Amino acid sequence: PFDVLVVGGGPAGASAAIYAARKGIRTGIVAERFGGQVMDTLSIENFVSVKHTEGPKFAASLEEHVKEYDIELMNLQRAKRLEKKELFELELENGAVVKGKTVILSTGARWRNIGVPGEEEFKNKGVAYCPHCDGPLFAGKDVAVIGGGNSGVEAAIDLAGITNHVTVLEYNAELKADSVLQDRLKSLPNVTVLTNARTQEITGTDKVNGLSYIDLQTGEEKHVELSGVFVQIGLVPNTDWLGDFVERTAHGEIVIDQRGATNMPGVFAAGDCTNIPYKQIIISMGSGATASLSAFDHLIRSDIP
Ligand code: FAD
Repeated sequence: PFDVLVVGGGPAGASAAIYAARKGIRTGIVAERFGGQVMDTLSIENFVSVKHTEGPKFAASLEEHVKEYDIELMNLQRAKRLEKKELFELELENGAVVKGKTVILSTGARWRNIGVPGEEEFKNKGVAYCPHCDGPLFAGKDVAVIGGGNSGVEAAIDLAGITNHVTVLEYNAELKADSVLQDRLKSLPNVTVLTNARTQEITGTDKVNGLSYIDLQTGEEKHVELSGVFVQIGLVPNTDWLGDFVERTAHGEIVIDQRGATNMPGVFAAGDCTNIPYKQIIISMGSGATASLSAFDHLIRSDIP
């Protein structure tokens, strides 16, 4: 069995595995797609100490670093069930069972898509999901934020400080964000809020040039000219496969403490699949290191054979 079995091969999982392997203990990673969300990222400018890089390049150096160590990488393998017997047993989609004395869950998350024409086509060409990551690319330009919940309104407030103008589109009759955020939003001169607005299409040629929506009160189709669209309708953690094996929040995020421990002794978690605030590469790597050091700490205190 592995001393530390990491499930998920994004920044959190890679970091957890490297920290574990550096203790000289048997370490394995099971990953559906090594690299994780970073593989879908065009440009990364906020990984501190690296001024600019690209997602696939970043993922390649993650893999290179992992391969420096004696880490068994089981890539293109999807985990489907975790059980506690004498050891932890992870069942893969292909039927194989991988055992671990401790487990680190780092299966990440995915942005919920709006699913309208143009979204897929213009991803990284004006369609964005992360204001902390991509906001500065739209400095001085006009953008839209789809979604009037907390993340949408936070994004709009953030973007209003960087861009020329922000249009917020909410499908319902009212924004759902906390009222303190709504008040803040309303105080900003360069923000327009459209409620009862159903996004129909993100338009463009080689990159985004606008957005069409239906005004649900009049049924009329309208178009706004824009350079960027931030889709903010939720980040979904990849944790459904865990069922109730570990405690999760109402949104499905794995609940961890300061040390990355879940409610199941010996099971730790890190990165975007957990309830840590702010989902970023640098943060998920830090939490991977924390979970790994905690798993090591657990191992040296327990009498697992
Ligand atoms: P993930 O990267 O989501 O990795 C999860 C891993 O788990 C993957 O290997 C996945 O295949 C695997 N997995 C999932 N389910 C299973 C399963 N059942 N069995 C086995 N493996 C499984 N952050 C920044 O800091 N800067 C940026 O510029 C930036 N830009 C972004 C742009 C885009 C388009 C996106 C989508 C995200 C961006 N982010 C950025 C966010 C950043 O990518 C994430 O915060 C980070 O990747 C989270 O790392 P993670 O390891 O927790 O999860």
